[in-house]
Amino acid sequence: MYGWLAAERVNSLARLGGLEREFSEILESSGSAGTDDEHDPEGATIAFERQHAAALLSRAREHLAQIDAAMLRLTEGSYDQCENCGQPIGAARLAARPVTTTCINCASQR
Ligand SMILES: [Zn+2]
Repeated sequence: MYGWLAAERVNSLARLGGLEREFSEILESSGSAGTDDEHDPEGATIAFERQHAAALLSRAREHLAQIDAAMLRLTEGSYDQCENCGQPIGAARLAARPVTTTCINCASQR
């Protein structure tokens, strides 16, 4: 399980780096153009791209944080424990969702 998390962390970092580059490129191009988002059709496209890139970026950051949290729980020995009820999460569920923090019962109650 630790190997999977470590590999996923490397992937996630690489993805985050790519998204950050992409996002700063969009910011640069929209900044230099000095476009008006509301009236310039190209400005609206850039605004949409910027929003989309920002959403991807925050999702990637969130995923990385989940991986880090899972690794921390792994070293603390609480990785397999549901943070809500304290019961074991179960190997099958962890295999399907390695960054999950709740057991299937608690997850279905949300
Ligand atoms: Zn639970």
